[in-house]
Amino acid sequence: MSTVRKFSVPRGTSDILPQDSYLWQHLEQKARSMMEVYGYREIRTPYFEETALFTRSLGQTSDVVNKQLLNISQAKKETSEPQEDISGLSLRPEGTASIVRSYIENDLDKKEHLSKLYYIGPMFRGERPQKGRLRQFHQIGVEAIGPETSIAYLDAELIALSTKLLEAFGVSGFKLKINSLGTSEDKQNFSSLLRSKLQKDLSKLCPDCQGRFERNVFRILDCKNPTCRDIVAKLGLTDEHLSESSRKYFAEVKDALKMLKVPFEVSATLVRGLDYYTHTVFEISHSGLGSQDALGAGGRYNGLVQELGGDPKGTIGAIGFALGIERILLARQNTDEEKPRPDFFIVALDAEGKKDAYLRAFQMLEEIRSEGISAEMNFVTASMKSQMRLADKLNARNVIILGEDELNSNTMTIKDMTSGEQKKIPQTELARLLNNLKK
Ligand code: AMP
Repeated sequence: MSTVRKFSVPRGTSDILPQDSYLWQHLEQKARSMMEVYGYREIRTPYFEETALFTRSLGQTSDVVNKQLLNISQAKKETSEPQEDISGLSLRPEGTASIVRSYIENDLDKKEHLSKLYYIGPMFRGERPQKGRLRQFHQIGVEAIGPETSIAYLDAELIALSTKLLEAFGVSGFKLKINSLGTSEDKQNFSSLLRSKLQKDLSKLCPDCQGRFERNVFRILDCKNPTCRDIVAKLGLTDEHLSESSRKYFAEVKDALKMLKVPFEVSATLVRGLDYYTHTVFEISHSGLGSQDALGAGGRYNGLVQELGGDPKGTIGAIGFALGIERILLARQNTDEEKPRPDFFIVALDAEGKKDAYLRAFQMLEEIRSEGISAEMNFVTASMKSQMRLADKLNARNVIILGEDELNSNTMTIKDMTSGEQKKIPQTELARLLNNLKK
């Protein structure tokens, strides 16, 4: 006998089933309302863009571009119609590049002084899947972009927002690390300084890091190899790569964070893997997450709008962060979400061969729902016991029982499932009952 092949979810992706999707909805709602309170407005960009946009923004040498970009390709079709070449497109691995593209394309700098934008949605990376590391994952992120907006207080506000969001989601015990890369000149100084400090140990670094030494020396600071970590720890990095004004800027960010009572730790080795960062960078980690311990990260990227052709004068400042939703859900302890439950479950009890109660229940469902109140029934005719079992399973707040008695007297029995109290009332009372519930 031939067996029919069953399909599975693609590796590194997952279904979010109703038993969990309500948690996602709660989290997203909280995120939306908090980001709006901080003045951010939603932007939705496509899930794919020109590959070159990502290469240019994130840097040729970043892992995301080098190893993880998922290109869109299309098999040639047998058709005489001309086929558009879509091979230059990739699924978005992160949100910033698309948002900056959109900011420039829609001239947002001419429409508002500061654009405070947020997004919630899936990102795609061709990663080797493991716990906390997926090929399709979801981020909540914000970007604050505008001319002359490289202001330390904006950095602090945005960093504070990232931690307030985590707290609102019920995550505690996370750690915020910050650092400053300085201007692009400071960054150049930083990389020369790093190379000179690492030179004597170059041969002891792992083969990957030996390659990174020329290509992107900052990435050595993120290497997980114990020997490389040891060498990095002994470098004695400080803020010596920073100019006086960058140092002042960073001091202001730190002071503002203290004013907002946001605990942080300065980490001289925190650099982030992407090319576009300047000045403030930060990362939030949680020790309960294992090896993939980053809950979120972000930083200032003042040169990117210019790099993408939208800022001839070079005055546009920008800063953003992204938090990973899957990891937030893994890290959270204090949860207060209630599973969705129906306000009413209607039990219909008919005598053998009859359907009167069933039809009245079916009609009543609509009467209740049209008031915006949730109601369910068992569509399969079943015994009282089995209908009550379903009402219990759904955790219904109230049960309405319609039996022969009730139908004959135009009444209904209503049971409050929390107190167990039960009473018979006229069906004409339903409207008043629903009205009271709505208040
Ligand atoms: P990144 O842009 O890599 O700093 O990502 C920001 C946040 O997104 C991380 O701190 C994670 O929480 C989350 N994230 C990044 N990559 C993945 C992934 N492959 N799977 C799950 N979450 C991820």
